[in-house]
Amino acid sequence: MTRATQLATVIVTMMLMTSDATETGLAQTSRLGPDGSVREGAYIRLPLSAANQQYGSIDGTRMKQLVREVTEISLANRDDRTKYWGRIAGTRGEEMARGYVERKFRELGLSDIRNQQFDLPTQWFPAGYDISVEAGGRSYRFDSLVPALRSRPTDGMLDLEAVWVGTGSTADFHGRDVAGKAVFIHSIPAPGSMGHSAGPTWEGAISRAQELGAAAIFVIYGISDNFTIWQSLGGNITTPGAFMGYRDGNTVKELIGGGETVRVKIQVDIDYRDGLKTASVFGTLPGTTDEEIYILAHLDGYFEAALDNASGISVMLTLAEHFAARPQSERRRNIIFVGTAGHHVRSPGSRWMHDNRETALANAALMINCEHVSVKQTVYWGPEMRKTDIPSPRRWWVHGSDQLVDLVLDAYRTFGVAVWDHMEDRAAGEMGSVARDLPSIQIIRSPEIKHTDQDIPDWVPEAGLEAVARAYAKVIDEVNQLGRSALQPEQQTEGQ
Ligand SMILES: [Zn+2]
Repeated sequence: MTRATQLATVIVTMMLMTSDATETGLAQTSRLGPDGSVREGAYIRLPLSAANQQYGSIDGTRMKQLVREVTEISLANRDDRTKYWGRIAGTRGEEMARGYVERKFRELGLSDIRNQQFDLPTQWFPAGYDISVEAGGRSYRFDSLVPALRSRPTDGMLDLEAVWVGTGSTADFHGRDVAGKAVFIHSIPAPGSMGHSAGPTWEGAISRAQELGAAAIFVIYGISDNFTIWQSLGGNITTPGAFMGYRDGNTVKELIGGGETVRVKIQVDIDYRDGLKTASVFGTLPGTTDEEIYILAHLDGYFEAALDNASGISVMLTLAEHFAARPQSERRRNIIFVGTAGHHVRSPGSRWMHDNRETALANAALMINCEHVSVKQTVYWGPEMRKTDIPSPRRWWVHGSDQLVDLVLDAYRTFGVAVWDHMEDRAAGEMGSVARDLPSIQIIRSPEIKHTDQDIPDWVPEAGLEAVARAYAKVIDEVNQLGRSALQPEQQTEGQ
């Protein structure tokens, strides 16, 4: 072929490929994104009935944009040296998130905007760490390997023999001498949950390793992917340790299984910082009585923290926007929005509300906590965790009358907010300390990606954000048709 005919052949081939693509529709379809994933606009959504058109302006695409704005604050605070970045309580990241929420409150015209500051007790920060696995004359370093949250520092550089104990049951440890060694435990997550087998309520492997004298404890987190996670070894664990992802953990397993002598070098230096501050930010949308509805969302988070808790912040801001757009005469109660301080360091803002409930909550009719509200249901597919197009069902909590329980569940059903088939016996998360002090509601979901580098906006479906915000808006409207006594738990009302 001449060059000209070669060129003509290429052009004809390209035209054929283009027309093929047009015929199959794959390259051009609006239902698929550029990477082949189903676009969010094609996810399952329940249509709005005629009676609920007023909630139609609550739009998941805009809510997702708010999630991205919050995760961008984290990305601006990324620190590759320590990997301990995000919107960490007491740092600039959390402060920027607070400033962001405060700006939104001002834009929406909320009143009585103020900060409530708290002194933090001594805070843990990994000042620096150097962890390597040595085998066959090679040194391995792993991206996912980070000190366990609140790990004790090592006394200089330790050079330890590595021991593999599987999932760390009594059978795995039987006859093993782990004293003075680096113990590797493979921890299996409960599918769909951040709970994992090595922890105290399940296999107890981490405690067992400490009791048997391990010098360092390594936990391989998960059965898929390669998560970097900020997770504690447990409150009673004084042995230094680290978490690592599944793929990196498999490399260590293969080295040990291959009969090599495997050693670990680990140095962890901790910076204990005093004098740090955190703060909650308040904004009020005035109603027509002196009664109040509180809406909370915690500000801090690890890594991008899209689910935990940009998703909750998005719901809170969307509710503020929705009700700010209504005339004040339609708002029976003041709505007080609170971006709360330091959730991952014991929630001082909610504790303060509990401690001062006689005064601070004297006029409060209801509290709604917005936390981890929308995450894609996971499916395990070989060593990969796949996403689906439905929001994962949430744990839920209602403290109040049967009438409140019913109207909340009706709102969830109306907008397609899936929940577990039993209510929790306590309110997990930010509202835990204050949830029994007044009628209160929340939904919350804590999947495998929580506190990991994969808590990114892609895991937070628009459809779920939208459904939850619409449901909460309807709950507020219906609660505003009822007096406070109708919301209180029955036994409390009777006792008074
Ligand atoms: Zn959270």
